[in-house]
Amino acid sequence: MNLKNLMDENIEVVEIDKATWMISEGIGRSRAHCYLVEGNNQAALIDTGLHVIEMKSIVEKLTDKETVILSTHGHIDHVSNHYQFDKIYLNGKDDAIYDLAYNSELRATLLRGWFMSKGVESSEFEKAPLKEYLIKQTQLPPKKDYEELSEKQIIELGNRSLEVIETPGHTVGSVSFLDSKFKRLFIGDTICEDGVLLHFKESTSVATYLESLKKLINRKDEFDELYAGPQLVSLPTSIIEDFIGCAELIIDNKDNLDEIAIKEQDHYSVQYKKARLTVPIQ
Ligand SMILES: [Zn+2]
Repeated sequence: MNLKNLMDENIEVVEIDKATWMISEGIGRSRAHCYLVEGNNQAALIDTGLHVIEMKSIVEKLTDKETVILSTHGHIDHVSNHYQFDKIYLNGKDDAIYDLAYNSELRATLLRGWFMSKGVESSEFEKAPLKEYLIKQTQLPPKKDYEELSEKQIIELGNRSLEVIETPGHTVGSVSFLDSKFKRLFIGDTICEDGVLLHFKESTSVATYLESLKKLINRKDEFDELYAGPQLVSLPTSIIEDFIGCAELIIDNKDNLDEIAIKEQDHYSVQYKKARLTVPIQ
């Protein structure tokens, strides 16, 4: 992969139906998926991605409705283009990590690490064109204030609405959005094809994450598909059962995780059927 390919904005817009789009940005499997959901009166953009892109102008080409931003959680790869929009919703329990996403030093460290993992020499960081690219990606305007998201809140879009379901686990403020009309659940990083990370300091206990999954499974008749933040876009609802099995396996073996998990640096990784969870080493 050459430097130009690595810096390409690589934005993909996929029409899911006439009033729903996926806007995906990033490279390879490190892509971030955002979803534009349009009602008769307004639209909602669920997450805004990692790389600084012209997200607002992309959205304006797809819908002429006023667009509000809904955040599945506060991580950097979900909130980086929030600053381009006027009305933002976030669960305030993720306030501290939303702050971090707008920290230019942290953004620079993350992006430099990513380029180095692709074989780019550190000397390239001080030269054009990578230097200009990194400045654009790290010098964000101040983060915008937000309105609170909380359990059972309904975001009314006009003949279509999104219901907030709090799903703490990956982060303490993680939420999912239920689109009852189209029977879809937008879940952010609460369930991912490549596994769910629960080893951050902003993650909850596995027991709390398990409660979130049970809440979703109790409502499984209300949705047919899961729309995730990274990797494969549409996941079958049956994968929730696998994540429940994985969480229960960890809880049942909490004192002998060495026997069921792979140990990696600062975390354990546990696989159960199609589900994988990472948890901190205590
Ligand atoms: Zn995340």
